[in-house]
Amino acid sequence: MALQFFNTLSRSKEVFVPLDPAGKKVGLYTCGPTVYNYAHIGNLRAFMFEDLLRRYLEYKGFAVTHVMNITDVEDKIIRTVRETGKPLREITDFYTQEFFRDLTTLNIQRAHVVPRATETIPGMIALIEQLIAKQHAYIGDDGSVYFSIKSFPAYGQLGHLDMENLQPGARVQHDEYAKESVADFALWKAWVETDGPIKWDSPWGPGRPGWHIECSVMSMAHLGASFDIHCGGEDLVFPHHEDEIAQSEAATGKQFVKYWLHNAHLLVEGKKMSKSAGNFFTLRDLLAKGWTGREVRYLLLSGHYREQLNFTMDGLAGARSALQRIDEFLLKIQELAAPTEAKAQKIPAPIETALDDDLNISAALGSIFEFIRDANKRTIPADEAACILATWRQIDKVLGFGIPAKSDVPAEIQALVEERQTARKAKNFKRSDEIRDQLKLQGWVIEDTSTGARAKRLSANAR
Ligand SMILES: [Zn+2]
Repeated sequence: MALQFFNTLSRSKEVFVPLDPAGKKVGLYTCGPTVYNYAHIGNLRAFMFEDLLRRYLEYKGFAVTHVMNITDVEDKIIRTVRETGKPLREITDFYTQEFFRDLTTLNIQRAHVVPRATETIPGMIALIEQLIAKQHAYIGDDGSVYFSIKSFPAYGQLGHLDMENLQPGARVQHDEYAKESVADFALWKAWVETDGPIKWDSPWGPGRPGWHIECSVMSMAHLGASFDIHCGGEDLVFPHHEDEIAQSEAATGKQFVKYWLHNAHLLVEGKKMSKSAGNFFTLRDLLAKGWTGREVRYLLLSGHYREQLNFTMDGLAGARSALQRIDEFLLKIQELAAPTEAKAQKIPAPIETALDDDLNISAALGSIFEFIRDANKRTIPADEAACILATWRQIDKVLGFGIPAKSDVPAEIQALVEERQTARKAKNFKRSDEIRDQLKLQGWVIEDTSTGARAKRLSANAR
């Protein structure tokens, strides 16, 4: 099967053919975070899906250039500046660093280029000037510059809007608005008092860019007027992405993006995530509850990106035991494997077929566990184990779960660890503590991990 993706533009699965005539280079733009707060797990689902997409494209041999913006000026950020009294840059720098920390915890690859909106303002002004010159934009009586929807008949193509029956309203200033109020939207917002110190000079007076123009400019600056894939959560289809298309195509006269991929929402414990419902989680909340980034990664990744994912604590427990099964298998395979590394293998066909089909991860994981189940039933010769290990390294390039390190714990220490586990289960804490002390004397410490207790060598200065 050829690689195919569901394209929101056509609302159908399409075979993926990059714009590059050599079929090699792929331009990928993913809408980045608005940095005024910690990312919540709903946001992180989008970045996780995009990570799988990029990893798989790279596995398939494409040379991907991944651009992800940092939205560091926008309505919500300005509100935060007003509420906290802190400078914009202090807020956005802090949350940008925290965001990158989350990506590292989740083993999400960083984009190759990460432009900040506030550092791209001259490009935004240039694009707005082009739109004014081509009569796709005008200056409103409030001094802001608006995109004229009626000047762009293709408006509504991504959101599949019924423009005839949607009576376009006059104008909208806010970055987010409802379909019913489809209206001329702000490209440049004239400074008002509530913006405080946040303003940049422009040919139309002091002000700031609208959110939508930011992404058009940052994507085209690094990927060209036309590029292959643009992603985001389904909530961004309208108005954000619809407006990006309008601005970009009206200015360049070229198709902006060939494939639009959107991920579905996430529910938490069966409900829409909200602070008042008590089901609102950032990654740090989950880490504080004892879950690992790897377990969160597994759960966020395990459902197909276009299907609603119900994120639950039971699901995390399931992720924990799924990873445990994988780890146990890999540790066993590492023990069995012939010492010479087998040469790189392709991902097994059923897994590749599943991922080729619009990243059908559930089917891919299904065949991985089927393989583990079958392999656990038989004796695996050393050379086959080496091949399995080499194959797994390829699979892991796509899944990013990591491969557990081969254990170097001597058998007698391992026996004590197991005896302690048994003692603990029997609530014999006296014996369990004795064993812990004995291990410590011998230079070992017990770590309780998601995959059970493990002995770790004490570092010299901890003895
Ligand atoms: Zn965007």
